[in-house]
Amino acid sequence: MAKKLVPMCARCTKVVCSPTLKNGEEPPIDQAPAFCPMKLMPEVLARATAEYDAPNVREFARLASVQEFECYEHLPEGRRTKIPRVEELIQFAHKCDYKRLGIAFCSGLANEARILTDVLENKGFQVASVRCKVGATPKEHIGITEEQKIRGPGWLETMCSPIAQAEILNALEVDLAIMLGLCIGHDTLFIRYCRVPMTVLAVKDRVFGHNPLAALYLSGSYYSRLMTKTK
Ligand code: SF4
Repeated sequence: MAKKLVPMCARCTKVVCSPTLKNGEEPPIDQAPAFCPMKLMPEVLARATAEYDAPNVREFARLASVQEFECYEHLPEGRRTKIPRVEELIQFAHKCDYKRLGIAFCSGLANEARILTDVLENKGFQVASVRCKVGATPKEHIGITEEQKIRGPGWLETMCSPIAQAEILNALEVDLAIMLGLCIGHDTLFIRYCRVPMTVLAVKDRVFGHNPLAALYLSGSYYSRLMTKTK
């Protein structure tokens, strides 16, 4: 049976969605590969594009693109970047006229959460923060066994509760929630339950100092095991 085509932008060599053309010229969509989502799912794309017709969505998207633009500077020697993500966060929050920010952080990044709070308060924001362990609920509540405790059997270990983090920031009605270093899966739950606008400052990577892409950069050498095929 023929395999159903799915979008595979990561394998595209044409990239006709981002052409070097002048205003008014048409991107040559017909030259896109067969797995291009523009060919496979035009109705979905039409619906998605229509979402930007809502004034609030359009304005939010516009500010995000202005922020993107402002992250570069154009010098005689060429275009270069100038704003790290934390400053981007500050600038974007000001652009959106956000006043109250909420940090959902991992216990392992408590120091970073304190520094981030200082930084954001110094820039004029009111900052709430919620640690992943909030609720102090024993891990037994979700079926973790003694053998699955990080400290070992016999210790009280409280669970990460990203749902509580999200619901607390929802209840506070913060203008923007900021995820800081939540673990895989915990971040998924946080995103699922968070109902206020949300962004990510950092994701958890215990080995690479919260820079998971380092493993990809090293996938041709020290982390070549990532490229070995498994069933
Ligand atoms: S949208 Fe189409 S043209 Fe653009 S990268 Fe994806 S597959 Fe390629």
